[in-house]
Parts: sequence; C-alpha cells; structure tokens
Amino acid sequence: MQQVQILPSWKAVVDESLCVGCGKCVKVCWTGAISVVDKKAVVDFNRCICCTACMKTCPRGAIRLVPYSFPLVQRDEGLAEIKARLNALGSELEEIQKSIEAL
Ligand code: SF4
Ligand code: SF4
Repeated sequence: MQQVQILPSWKAVVDESLCVGCGKCVKVCWTGAISVVDKKAVVDFNRCICCTACMKTCPRGAIRLVPYSFPLVQRDEGLAEIKARLNALGSELEEIQKSIEAL
C-alpha cells in the first residue's frame, strides 16, 4: 500500500516570462535545487528549503515563494502533483496581485 504524508512548506517558483537564464540563482542555491534548462531556471521542489537566497539574488525579480502543501507519494507521482499544484497556486497569486494593484 502506498504511504501518503502531507508536508506543509514554501517553495521557490520561477516566472519563465521574466527569467533570462543568467544562472545567478543557480550559484546561490546551496541545496542545488536550481538548474537552467533551455535558458530558463527550473526549481527542484524536493530540494528547495525556502531559504530565499535565489529570490533576493535574481536581477529580474523572476522568483517568488509560494505556500505549498503536498502529499509525499512516490517520487514521479509526487513531482507531477507538485507541478500541477504550483501552476494552480501561481495563477491564484497572479489574480490576488491584480486585485491588490486594482485597489
Ligand atoms: S537569477 Fe533570475 S533571471 Fe537569472 S536564471 Fe535565475 S530566475 Fe532566471
Ligand atoms: S529558496 Fe533557497 S533552497 Fe529554494 S531554490 Fe531558492 S536558493 Fe534554493
């Protein structure tokens, strides 16, 4: 039987429309969570511990932290679940940001 555990956390998320692939975030991420693929930074959520170093370093403001709770299941299934949840959270945060800016 598959064991599922809920892990509340925060994760770094890259806005691909802002990222220019400079790699500065890769150099400061001491857990090795970030790599640049096709000129865009990609975060390995299993390694991100929410230290904020990448977010503070990015010259483009392309990285933000989002609250996240996800079930820890088998690695492949867990990554797919994480990506789907982060995409949904990213959209929700953009809507909230627009609402705040409209005030
Ligand atoms: S520092 Fe910012 S712009 Fe540079 S690769 Fe990382 S996320 Fe992209
Ligand atoms: S928040 Fe810290 S651990 Fe997470 S990706 Fe950024 S530098 Fe790496």
